[in-house]
Amino acid sequence: MEQLLQSQQQYFHTGRTRDIQQRREALQTLIDGIHRYELEIAEALHRDLGKSHTEAYATEIGIVLHEARQALKHVGKWAKARRVRTPLTHIGSKGYIIPEPYGSVLIIVPWNYPFQLAISPLIGAIAAGNTAVIKPSELAPHTSALMTRLIEELFPPSFVTVVEGGIETNEALLELPFNYIFFTGSTAVGRIVMQAAAKRLIPVTLELGGKSPCIVHHDADIDLAAKRIAFGKWTNAGQTCVAPDYVYVHRSQHDALISRLQAVVKQFYGDEPLTSDNYPSIINDRHFTRLTSYVDGEKIAFGGRHDQEKRRIEPTILTDITWESSVMQDEIFGPILPILPYEDIEEVIKVITDRPKPLALYLFTREHAVQQLITDRISFGGGCINDTLMHLATPYLPFGGVGESGIGSYHGQFSFSTFSHEKSLLVQSTWLDIPFRYPGARNALKWL
Ligand code: NAD
Repeated sequence: MEQLLQSQQQYFHTGRTRDIQQRREALQTLIDGIHRYELEIAEALHRDLGKSHTEAYATEIGIVLHEARQALKHVGKWAKARRVRTPLTHIGSKGYIIPEPYGSVLIIVPWNYPFQLAISPLIGAIAAGNTAVIKPSELAPHTSALMTRLIEELFPPSFVTVVEGGIETNEALLELPFNYIFFTGSTAVGRIVMQAAAKRLIPVTLELGGKSPCIVHHDADIDLAAKRIAFGKWTNAGQTCVAPDYVYVHRSQHDALISRLQAVVKQFYGDEPLTSDNYPSIINDRHFTRLTSYVDGEKIAFGGRHDQEKRRIEPTILTDITWESSVMQDEIFGPILPILPYEDIEEVIKVITDRPKPLALYLFTREHAVQQLITDRISFGGGCINDTLMHLATPYLPFGGVGESGIGSYHGQFSFSTFSHEKSLLVQSTWLDIPFRYPGARNALKWL
């Protein structure tokens, strides 16, 4: 691994990655490769997570292709040095901000969107002129192996490579002097990554998780809210960092929301979601057992059945839940949705702000004042009003957490900025040398 990093650093110092044309060619190579491998990528995602081709395309392949095309189109503009103003005291000089690549970046990937969460940061790293090492998750082995093959075919390892392995591999990589670390995963491992990075003062982006709330106010369009919450919760069987973790619904809409959600689940996945081709599996036995234990002994409004062999759990709604219930202790990261009623929106604000800042927040209401209230009073990474998940699918919004849900952001131009250091440069004139700053300035004043 040390040799690998050295070879990347040597490659970086040749200056090839900085060349804009080279960046464009690399992005085009990546796009062409993804197109060529599309079926194999979808197949690997199906084998790891039981994703349908449609879901694989919508949530992984299509998203990265869009990101890559966007970067390809704009990288020339993004990479340009920007001239900025200078104050009167600097008369005669010119100020510039020059985006420069960090060098070799390490991209650590989780298993839930194992392709998208590796390739999307890679696009930013390449566009910004870096070399990259991708460390996929060992829990999505088919996608991990496929990415190794894909990247090997597209790029020399001194430019981009994949290092497969588990925790020990990651620990070994974290000992190396990378120039930037981009980590997506749990808050607990995020802490480990940041500690390792702190030893060498390596800058980091941490894309973490947490419990993302969803609020349904009394004036919400309940049909639409149910459809969009169901989409956000049961895409990838709830194994989405920004899935609504729990719902606070105004008491007057509690029963209506549950019955609409039930109808929508039927519409999406049929009467038997456990056998639906559109419904993914849980990643492994450990997570399956963890998730089914949340349901034990709780009041189930609907769902709750599971299939151990296929590792599938029905879309499940729990009611009569309190913050003491086991399902409320950690991020659920699965298809179980607790629904809690509220009377006064202030209660909800208090509960959320008493806890770590969430990665996402969703609010369903038509009332502008309520939209303003929630946006002003609650800090969260990003979110939607009257929708779920969709904020992460636009390259024009930065995607990331705040506090325990993460540090930094990416997507679109924000990815380019994440992987670039903004070097500031003052180009001073030689024809003018104002004397005031020098010792003895008083004499200079006299001279004036
Ligand atoms: P994880 O933190 O367990 O693993 C992420 C990566 O870290 C993997 O590559 C893994 O090999 C490595 N790793 C695991 N334990 C380690 C250790 N002790 N030391 C060093 N490396 C270690 O996360 P996961 O289970 O793969 O993914 C689920 C989590 O990721 C959830 O919390 C979810 O919210 C979060 N997530 C966040 C985003 C986001 O964009 N913010 C996206 C997807 C997932």
